[in-house]
Amino acid sequence: MKFCHGPREACGVFGVFGHKDAAKLTYFGLYALQHRGQESTGIVSSTGKSIYEHKGMGLVPEVFNETNLTGLYGHIAIGHVRYSTTGSSVAKNAQPFVVSHSGKTLAIAHNGNLTNARELRNDLEKKGSIFQTTMDSEIIVHLLARNIQKGLEEAMVQTVSQIQGAYSCVLMTKEKLIAFRDPNGFRPLCLGLLDEGYIVASETCALDLIEAQHIRDIDPGEILIIGEDELKSIKPFPERRKTFCIFEYIYFARPDSTIFGRNVYAVRKRLGKKMAQEYPIDADFAMPFPDSGNYAAIGFCQESGIPLEMGVIRNHYVGRTFIEPVQSMRDFEVKVKLNPVKEILNQKRVVIVEDSIVRATTSKMRIKTLREAGAWEIHMVISCPPLKHPCYYGIDFSTSGELIASDHSVEEIKNFIGLDSLCYLSLPGMLEATGLDQDSFCLACFNGRYPIQPKEGFSKLYLES
Ligand code: SF4
Repeated sequence: MKFCHGPREACGVFGVFGHKDAAKLTYFGLYALQHRGQESTGIVSSTGKSIYEHKGMGLVPEVFNETNLTGLYGHIAIGHVRYSTTGSSVAKNAQPFVVSHSGKTLAIAHNGNLTNARELRNDLEKKGSIFQTTMDSEIIVHLLARNIQKGLEEAMVQTVSQIQGAYSCVLMTKEKLIAFRDPNGFRPLCLGLLDEGYIVASETCALDLIEAQHIRDIDPGEILIIGEDELKSIKPFPERRKTFCIFEYIYFARPDSTIFGRNVYAVRKRLGKKMAQEYPIDADFAMPFPDSGNYAAIGFCQESGIPLEMGVIRNHYVGRTFIEPVQSMRDFEVKVKLNPVKEILNQKRVVIVEDSIVRATTSKMRIKTLREAGAWEIHMVISCPPLKHPCYYGIDFSTSGELIASDHSVEEIKNFIGLDSLCYLSLPGMLEATGLDQDSFCLACFNGRYPIQPKEGFSKLYLES
């Protein structure tokens, strides 16, 4: 039994160049990025002459130990934590993906989704490529392998000019580490420095853990090649509008990370403040469902003056249980993770501060347990507008059927969940809270305006995988 609420993250990537403890640093980097993917993980390393790899299903500390990490030799390493958005959740789809072609070995770790994956894959198969996995990330390696004889730099430029969609990647040859990010910049990717070595990570929280210094972000559209005597930045695309995924701020990224130039904690707090300004509510206290709503709840309470309480307590040690609960254990799935505190909730008017509603079934179960604990009134404020459209750029709500707001009004959702009132933050309110240029975000899951239209067959690829 797997316990999950809300959208799940896509993936996290990490890379090291020029450090004697490359694999171990990658392990810790992935450990810090675990929230971005919990299905599988892997590390590939290089001594400059030979490549070593270890991958498996499960969490980072479940897959790696001192023994297998010690066998990952070399001063270069890349790693990946995965939640599958394309490709099945099986061991062979664990990344980094490694391929040898024409005497060259390439390994890739990818966060995002290619929107022209089906088209490219069909084309490559016609030309004789044989795919080992169902991952769209493998397409990137095949494209690169086809052009590698022209030299790494030229092969990279040729490859990124063919792929479309969202990609924040680390790629490794025996001698080099390459970081590259799509020109829209959907997913974050940052560059750090530790001793004499370079570090690349999905989020800055991974740099903090290994005490690397955050130098800058990898720019949207940038290819950064890191070698023994080079740090070469190539920008093959003309400037285009950036469309950062605003959901990274709302839900995905860790609050201690700084992404797209802003600290996530601070943005979440401002989202909470905006909600308090837009929807003044009279209540005894406000509370989050920890942990995702915590920071917006702090902002909401500071702005509204309503006290903050923790009306439910989270069990941090919940993983997966394969033992079915006994029949008398009602609402087991909810309570095992979040248990209501009856003494706090009894006869109270409560405001729940939440980050988002996807299917609403978990919210419904949670509200039921709060009513049973004695809450008199339950209001809910959501720190983004209703999620109405699927995401094609690496987040797991890939069909609108998974989103309750796609075909239900706010009033209907309120009634379904069993709330006294339900308020969503407005789109302008959400954008203002980021503190960034309002034109720099992807908002497709809210307004249906896709910065890159998926090519025909894209959803088919999703459904098949
Ligand atoms: Fe992020 Fe939504 Fe755009 Fe997907 S559609 S990239 S979740 S903002």
